[in-house]
Parts: sequence; C-alpha cells; structure tokens
Amino acid sequence: MTPYSDIPKVDRMLAWPAMTAALREHPRPVVLAALRSVLDTVRKGFLRGEAIPLDESSLSDRFRNALDSATTPTLRKVVNGAGIVIHTNLGRAPLSRAVASALNDAAYGYSTLEYNLATGERGSRLEHVAGLLRELTGAEGALVVNNNAAALLLALTTLGSGREGIVSRGELVEIGGAFRIPDIMGQSGVILREVGATNRTHLRDYEAAISPATGLLLKVHPSNFAMVGFTAEVSPADLVRLGRKHSLPVMVDAGSGCLIDLTRFGISGEPMVREFICAGVDLVTFSGDKLLGGPQAGIIVGKEEFLRPMRNHPLLRALRLDKLTLAALEGTLRLYQDERQALAEIPVLRMLTLSAAELRSRGRKLLRKLRQLLPAGVSLELMDGVSHPGGGSYPLLSLPTTLLLISCQGISPQEIEERFRRAPVPVIGRISSGRFLLDLRTLQEEESPYLIAALRTLI
Ligand SMILES: *Cc1c(COP(=O)(O)O)cnc(C)c1O
Repeated sequence: MTPYSDIPKVDRMLAWPAMTAALREHPRPVVLAALRSVLDTVRKGFLRGEAIPLDESSLSDRFRNALDSATTPTLRKVVNGAGIVIHTNLGRAPLSRAVASALNDAAYGYSTLEYNLATGERGSRLEHVAGLLRELTGAEGALVVNNNAAALLLALTTLGSGREGIVSRGELVEIGGAFRIPDIMGQSGVILREVGATNRTHLRDYEAAISPATGLLLKVHPSNFAMVGFTAEVSPADLVRLGRKHSLPVMVDAGSGCLIDLTRFGISGEPMVREFICAGVDLVTFSGDKLLGGPQAGIIVGKEEFLRPMRNHPLLRALRLDKLTLAALEGTLRLYQDERQALAEIPVLRMLTLSAAELRSRGRKLLRKLRQLLPAGVSLELMDGVSHPGGGSYPLLSLPTTLLLISCQGISPQEIEERFRRAPVPVIGRISSGRFLLDLRTLQEEESPYLIAALRTLI
C-alpha cells in the first residue's frame, strides 16, 4: 500500500499540465477548490485502506472530472424524451425560437421596459402585454405577475381579505409542489367557506352560504384531476348570476390558460379563458407556462373595477415580472394573434397537436438517420404508445404516439437510462415494462445530434 506521504502536495500538482491548462480557463479559487476536493477524497479513501493510484495521470483525470462538475451550470438544457409535454420538472413550456430571440434582444442592453418612446416619458411595464391579453381574451383589462399562485394571492388579498371566499368542496385542489387552494386563501386573509360535497355542489349551496361576511365567489378548475360518475358543478354563468344578485365578485382560477380551442385535434376538456369572460366572470387567473406555452407568469384578466385596486396594491411590486419574462410573454402572445402561427410555432401547442401519422413518419425518419451511426450492439425499434399533456391539463387525455425503444447488448435499460441522463446534453427517457423508451412527441426535430451523442455513451 502507498504511504500517506506519497499523496502529492497542492503546490507540486499546480505545475502539472492539467492544472496549468485549467488555470488558463478558470479562476484560481475554482481550480484550487477542485484540486482540494480531489485530494480530500483521495486522503479519505486512503484512510479507509483503498488502493488509489497516485500517479499524475490518474490524479489529473480525477481533477478534470471534479473541475467539470464544479464548472458545469446546474440549470442546463436537456432533451425531453419522456413524452410529457408540459413537464414541470423540465421547465414546463419550452419557448419557440422567435420568443427566445425576443428574450435575447431584451436581455442584451437596455429596453423600453418602463419607457414610452412616443412621449419620451415614463411608461408602464404592464402595457407591453395588457393590450394583447385584452384582445386575446375579450377582457376589459389585464395584469401580469410572477406566476398563477401570485395572481391568486394578489387577487384574493385585494378582493376579499378579512372576508369569506366561497368555494366548492370539490375544487379545493392541490397542485404539485405543495400548493393548495385553502393555503393560498389563508395566506391572503380570505376566510375559506367550503360548500357542497366532494362530488356534487349546487347553486343553492353557494346561495345558502352567502352572508354579510362574504367577500367573493371563487371557482377553481381542478386541472390535474377529474371526477367521473355522480358529479355536479355550477357553471360560471350561473355563478355570475348569483354574484350579481348579491353584488359579489366572481373569480375563476382557470389553471392552464387555454386560448385556442383544440377540440378539432381530439383535445378537449380545458375551459377557454375567453368563455369565462363571455360568461361575465369578473376575474380569471391562469399560468403563462402551462398550456399557454409561454414563460412562467401569472395572468389576471377581467374587469377594470377589480383590477384597479390590484395595480395600486403594494403586493404587486413584490410579485412583479422582470423584463425577460415580459419579453417572452409578449413574444408568445403575439404568436396567438394568428391561430395558425400559434399552432405551428408555440412548442407546447405544436407538440400536443402532432398527429399519430406525423409522429410515425418522424420516427421512421429518425430511425434511418440514427441507424447509420449506431454503435455496435445497440438496436432501435419503433413502438406505438401514449403521451400525456402534463402541467395539470387534460388529466384524462392520452395522446397516441410513437416511441423509440433503445436497447443494447450487455447494458440494462436502467443503465441506458442513466447514461442518457449523464450525456453531454442529457436525454431524459422513461422505463416502461423493462424497456428504455423515448417519446417522439416531445423530441424536437433538431435535437437528433444530442440523441446521437447519447447513443455513443453506450459504446
Ligand atoms: C397550476 C395551477 C396553479 C398554480 O400556478 P403556478 O403558475 O404554477 O403558480 C394554480 N391553480 C391552478 C388551478 C393550477 O392549475
């Protein structure tokens, strides 16, 4: 066994080519930290009696690995082969090239964030998207904040703090990441008044609960779950009639932000924001990065009468959007001005509406491309399967898709999954019935070089 004193000293190692090369590219403290972490691991291993090679080449390799992981950003691009279109863990909605370029313009240098070019005076950051939102939803006014949770917090606080908010028991939902409607109501100071039963709530339940303490009527789209069987809920229009009768504002948390009817693609079940506004709902809140396909944002549309106090509320400052998000949101909403363009260019909409035939033909094309470059022992096969919208939209919907089954002699599907996940650009797939699969629906066509690089890790 090597004596402990054979472990080289930092000073000596700093003269090795691996270190001098690293010092040309990275700050000294970063290089030193990587070096010390290697020596630390080596010493600990040594004390445990492990035989660790101490030659320059082995230690340099360890050092390069340590430096790589210390200097690689942790927020990185990945390829989504999991088939969940709005994948919360993978950043929800991917943005289109056009939107990414608008983002780049706003990021690099100065912008008109709060500057009115026509007058040379101060402008409002909200104006960049308010007009588009009015146009696309038919609402009188619009406001945007950090996310839908923030939108709810702001709207509930302004509308009903200290008073009761009436909600159906079947709509007290939990969204991923420990967000619950009762909690956000509590945070906003609105007193939760549950009505109805889990599966059925009637108009008379809301009516019976109305008292001088009532501040608002709230309807929540259940998003990530659906009830079947003996169920009943009150329509937005009926709730609006009840609200008018008692001079109470009616608010809807729509969740996803559906602006285009996708029924003709066999995709239905998400309520459209415009329909709520048409029904007379006073305020509708929804996310920017779910079905809408934009950046993380919370959008509030509805009547000016209720939006005005929100614009003057101190919470708005705490929840406001930055210029990058606004640029991405404006870019996304502009695509919606032409429905065909929105369906073609907003990645979430394009992926959701890909037909089974299109996916199959993409699969065959990809297979031809990959087969020419395939490492020995790796085999590819196309299979039929289903993908899911994700992001709390259309919980019951399974979309027919094409899957790429990847197998390799001597490597288990779990090991393939891990190697793909550790590829230079990680490729995230799934294992189902003991097979490693990539779903063509969420793979973008220009991503095949990343697939090729991941396949090479199987050699
Ligand atoms: C997703 C969702 C939220 C939370 O939206 P975020 O934008 O993630 O904050 C709130 N309510 C409903 C109904 C949702 O579906």
